[in-house]
Amino acid sequence: MNKNRRQFIKQVTTATLASAFSTQALADDTLDPFNLQEWRDNQINSPDKHHDILILGAGISGLCVAYELSKLGVNFQMLEARSKPGGRNETLRHGSEIEEFDRTSYCEFNRDKHLYFNVGPARISHHHERVLRYCKELSITLEPLINDNRNTFFSIDGAFNNTPIKAKELYTSQRGLIASTLAQAIEQNLVSHLLPAQHNDHMLKMLTSFGDLDSNYQFSGSIRAGAEANSGVFTPPQAQPSKDFTQVLPHLDKWARRIHFEQSKDQQAAMLQPVGGMDRIVKGFIRNIPKKIRYNSEVLSIKRVKSGSEVTFRNKQGVIKKMTAAQIVVTLPLTVLQDIDHDFSAPIAQEIQNANYTSAGKIAFQSERFWETHEHIYGGISWLGSDNTQLWYPSSGFGRESGVIVGGYIFDGPAGERFANLSNQERVDSALTQMQHVHPEAAEYTYNACSRSWKNTPFSKGGWSSNPPIVEFSHQDGPYIFAGDHTTYLSGWQEGAIASAHRALELLSLD
Ligand SMILES: Cc1cc2nc3c(=O)[nH]c(=O)nc-3n(C[C@H](O)[C@H](O)[C@H](O)COP(=O)(O)OP(=O)(O)OC[C@H]3O[C@@H](n4cnc5c(N)ncnc54)[C@H](O)[C@@H]3O)c2cc1C
Repeated sequence: MNKNRRQFIKQVTTATLASAFSTQALADDTLDPFNLQEWRDNQINSPDKHHDILILGAGISGLCVAYELSKLGVNFQMLEARSKPGGRNETLRHGSEIEEFDRTSYCEFNRDKHLYFNVGPARISHHHERVLRYCKELSITLEPLINDNRNTFFSIDGAFNNTPIKAKELYTSQRGLIASTLAQAIEQNLVSHLLPAQHNDHMLKMLTSFGDLDSNYQFSGSIRAGAEANSGVFTPPQAQPSKDFTQVLPHLDKWARRIHFEQSKDQQAAMLQPVGGMDRIVKGFIRNIPKKIRYNSEVLSIKRVKSGSEVTFRNKQGVIKKMTAAQIVVTLPLTVLQDIDHDFSAPIAQEIQNANYTSAGKIAFQSERFWETHEHIYGGISWLGSDNTQLWYPSSGFGRESGVIVGGYIFDGPAGERFANLSNQERVDSALTQMQHVHPEAAEYTYNACSRSWKNTPFSKGGWSSNPPIVEFSHQDGPYIFAGDHTTYLSGWQEGAIASAHRALELLSLD
């Protein structure tokens, strides 16, 4: 079955290249979803465990391939440039080294278990089935990750006198505006050409409820946005004066995506995180992979030879070494491959050349939990109008003395470039200035900052690929099989990295 399927993938790919099907068609229509259990069941009886396989890169995709091969008892080797596994899946805690091209620093959080910082991936979508499957299989305990919290802030530059407002005020006023406008249009028969009259009453009911409108279909504030202080317990709750959402309208070029962030496919509640840090997934894989990973081994060149491919790498001592293998699984980021001497086929080489990665970066502080005691914020994200974009409050450890607040998650181009170029102290100063716009007391309570610019990080050189994956990644290129989140439409998600690892497993010749 595996062999047939592999042949099928190759045939489809050849046909695809010849007849210029779209890459989306290949991804969505022409392949059955990979059935991991079926693949495992089919492979388990394969008599020959001595295969000549070399995996390049011990990020989530490489680890997943290594884990599955290890389960089968299949032989392989692995090269990893860093001194530890995980790649972009990195959790910083007390003593972690943070290496960037021009600096090395250390995380100075106290030793407590709850003081960690997922400086790469931090959230798992509820429908990222592949990641969730491995979490279950590897006994990784999950807990909710609060991605959306109505009590956090939006600091929309240009609106509300540049004063941050609570998410519940923003969303309530937005719904009020939409609902009252449409309800009045229905009432005045202005949209009768769009909505058959028999729906009018139902629509008006829905809009009244949607926007919390009064009996005249006006929005004049809602308790959903919060009650006036000292009301609502021994006196009836009084709604605060409503915000005017029309103030946001001129700023939607920048803000529309941010305001509707939690509606997007991969950001919807419920979201999850491993208890104790995202690198629990890395540790889970590693526990089940025999010691076959050569760390501190930087791949320098990848070239075809008669028996497959020869990989040249530099070890920790700076000695140049070579390794050959019949099949090579290449999981290195495209930004890294740009600097590697290779002989991949022309379309792949072209794609590597064109690769463009986001300049993502994050900064976090250990801190007293002032956001909980002062603002009743328990998890979630506040949105800044400035470079640092998102403030993340911890989704666990509520009520403890201290916690880790993410003082900036930057993922948009020029802001990420600026962040990369700041010294560590400048990143701290700038993050505090930006946080103070939302939390004026921030500097008083925060300490022990640490940060990473992924653009400035060796062996990553960027957050994730912004290019769509090319169809050539989905088939074998001589001895080369490609994996990594950049080979999928889930670039920037571990789910993509694992899906790509599964495709690599299908393409590997194990019989
Ligand atoms: C800031 C940020 C936030 C993110 N948020 C999320 C999130 O919330 N949820 C989520 O699911 N995903 C998130 N992601 C994406 C997630 O981190 C990736 O999809 C996933 O970790 C990619 O795994 P990979 O194996 O494809 O690549 P990588 O992790 O990049 O692995 C590649 C490996 O190759 C190694 N390597 C590089 N060069 C060489 C060389 N020359 N020689 C040998 N080895 C080399 C690297 O050291 C690395 O270990 C985020 C990423 C970033 C950067």
